[in-house]
Amino acid sequence: MEQKTIALIAHDGKKPEMVGFVKDHIDLLRSVKLIATGTTGSYVLKTGLDVELKLSGPKGGDAQIAALAAEGKIDAIIFFRDPLGMHPHEPDILGLMRVCDVYNVPLATNPATGELILKGIL
Ligand code: PGA
Repeated sequence: MEQKTIALIAHDGKKPEMVGFVKDHIDLLRSVKLIATGTTGSYVLKTGLDVELKLSGPKGGDAQIAALAAEGKIDAIIFFRDPLGMHPHEPDILGLMRVCDVYNVPLATNPATGELILKGIL
């Protein structure tokens, strides 16, 4: 079976939750190609997983991941948004979510959905 590619993104308020999510599913995640926005990825790297780092979200990382999703190069995106925070790159966040809907790319915005996606595609 072809290796799946999953993108991981977490806003600052959600990075601890992302690290916990990754640790909880580390065996499943070992079998996929991971890409992540810069800071999120640097945390994921500390778990021992291999991750391709993109730019930090506010510096264009979300837009890079959106472009890959539009090109059909991402099988799912796990994006823990912080619904209580303000984000200077809100347009990029909305763009990424829009691209997921345009191209029917699975997008999880919380751990419960992330878990369902992992179980579904792996
Ligand atoms: P970061 O970007 O992983 O570089 O913090 C995430 C985001 O804010 O979209």
